[in-house]
Amino acid sequence: MPQSEPTDGRDTPISSASAGGEGKAKRRKSKNGNGGGGSGSGNSSGKRERGDQDDEAMAKLANGPHGDGLRRSSISKPGRDRRDEPEPRTKRQKREKRDKSEKRRQTAADNDEASSSGSKRDASRSRSLARLESPVIDFDGLSRPSVGARDRLEEDPEAAAARLDRIKGAVRTILECVGENADREGLLATPERYAKAMLYFTRGYEQNVLDIVNGAIFQEGHSEMVIVKDVDVYSVCEHHLVPFTGKMHIGYIPNNAVIGISKLPRIAEMFARRLQIQERLTKEVANAIFEVLRPQGVAVVMESSHLCMVMRGVQKTSSTTVTSCMLGCFERRDKTRNEFLSLINVNAR
Ligand SMILES: [Zn+2]
Repeated sequence: MPQSEPTDGRDTPISSASAGGEGKAKRRKSKNGNGGGGSGSGNSSGKRERGDQDDEAMAKLANGPHGDGLRRSSISKPGRDRRDEPEPRTKRQKREKRDKSEKRRQTAADNDEASSSGSKRDASRSRSLARLESPVIDFDGLSRPSVGARDRLEEDPEAAAARLDRIKGAVRTILECVGENADREGLLATPERYAKAMLYFTRGYEQNVLDIVNGAIFQEGHSEMVIVKDVDVYSVCEHHLVPFTGKMHIGYIPNNAVIGISKLPRIAEMFARRLQIQERLTKEVANAIFEVLRPQGVAVVMESSHLCMVMRGVQKTSSTTVTSCMLGCFERRDKTRNEFLSLINVNAR
């Protein structure tokens, strides 16, 4: 598996369009994952409205000299648990991996020495080294975007109970802070209910792409567009911890191999069941399919409604946020992209 370097900044049609208004700049900021955390969050969701129709125009722009023929590695790199490594596939890759990890041990040792001398710069260099080794898509999927995901997956029942208790305590605090009596009957079991619900909403942290695909890739010699439309998506906005829900449309053009059709919604589900922003969710689904299948192209469009937007802030109750990620031939060829867009009928609504 070739590992291309992440090329932040031109990983989506939106960010590769260099000319951008204020709104675009804001969106780009939020996409990079550090959109100012809590303070900028109102903006980042508020700005995403129907005006996003110009996404398509921007996608066209992006089709210029930059986009051609280059595979995009469009997932920004959040913290990654270094225990998570992609599984090597061939003997050669295994050997390469062994060599690499030896080298890495060496580097780590060097860095330890360096950082023990207290240099901040060296520490940050070792961090960036760790990131370079990440695959484009996180095949074991556990550490993205949280470094605690593996602990969560592998914990024993005792640790799981302790985890639940911590969430319960936090929810009780919230109840008290909003002015409620946390001991009244209706609220007594609420912390536990919420804790369990939250763990369910985020169970995608315990799943990974390889398990989901589970070998369901078939050499069919097929090379016509395949589309799964209207996949229901329920996710949680990472800026406000409230849901956003909508429909995802997933299309790809096989390169002989096709993937079991039910796997597409399941991949979407896995990424949706993590704390997300819609832009990243869209990209992660597209990239995962691209990586496991190596098709000619992948297109993912998502339309959704964000409760953080409709219940608070701007309160535009009927607005929809549309995001798209086009890879491979969908990115390169207008005709293919337009065929996809007209088949999913996204412009007609
Ligand atoms: Zn939000």
